[in-house]
Amino acid sequence: MYGAIEAGGTKFVCAVGNESGKIMDRIKIPTTVPEETMAEVISFFKKYELTAIGIGSFGPVDVNPESEAYGMITSTPKLAWRNYSIVQAMKDAFSVPIGFNTDVNAAALGEAVNGAAKGLESCLYITVGTGIGAGAVVQGQLLQGLSHPEMGHILVRRHPQDGYQGKCPYHGDCLEGLAAGPAIEDRWGRKGIDLVDQQEVWDLEGYYIAQALMQYILILSPKKIILGGGVMHQKQVLSSIYKYLPKLDNGYVTLPELSEYIVSPGLGDDAGITGSLLLAHQAYADAIQH
Ligand code: ADP
Ligand code: ZN
Repeated sequence: MYGAIEAGGTKFVCAVGNESGKIMDRIKIPTTVPEETMAEVISFFKKYELTAIGIGSFGPVDVNPESEAYGMITSTPKLAWRNYSIVQAMKDAFSVPIGFNTDVNAAALGEAVNGAAKGLESCLYITVGTGIGAGAVVQGQLLQGLSHPEMGHILVRRHPQDGYQGKCPYHGDCLEGLAAGPAIEDRWGRKGIDLVDQQEVWDLEGYYIAQALMQYILILSPKKIILGGGVMHQKQVLSSIYKYLPKLDNGYVTLPELSEYIVSPGLGDDAGITGSLLLAHQAYADAIQH
């Protein structure tokens, strides 16, 4: 039996399941302070005989196994979690192999193996929620370099009528600063869920996301693009992306039928936790090989 944690800024989802990503039991725990949240996480898993654990975490996180800070959440605005090592906390409680990656990388893996990109060797998973982040599977592997990619913070061209200054504490008007949930709320003065009928909100949202997707397509050429996160519950954003993307591409890259190429997660809200189970399986497979 494998254990999986999807560590989010508002809640932790913990699950146990098998190597194909099938979930057998799960629990949700609010994200408060590490001591409290992790005590509940550990007591959930103590009920089971685990072979390995996979963790997909909010970040930024240190995912470089060579680094001293490996397993830590690093520059998060959630101060209680800054420089906290989830991996170390789990290692202290369970002596099993532990896989660790970002929440979006876990979701990308889940979708590649069991979801909308099943059977494909490449895909991109993007979440548009409290922040914007993306994970990429390339040739069957999660893309990783110096650290994990941070595709949510790329720069986009402003809409000529958009005077909003942007909300990213680091870059102001990067993609996340202009298009994540909190930016929508700040620009229009109401939460996304209360702006459902305001067509210009979702048109502008698609205008920015389409630009980001165009850049990801040019750089990574993924076989499938999956868009998750709270904001993407507004299906109007997909329509707006389908409208703007071909204009940006202008016939240069031959794009597949957009409604099949740019899609919602096949696993729904379970992409991340399923991917975390798969991270556990990978950690186990690595450990028996070495
Ligand atoms: P998180 O990113 O914290 O994991 P979510 O993916 O649910 O959580 O994203 C939360 C953000 O998405 C909030 O800014 C919220 O206003 C926005 N959001 C959530 N549901 C909807 C919806 N149905 N329509 C529009 N915006 C939404
Ligand atoms: Zn930014």
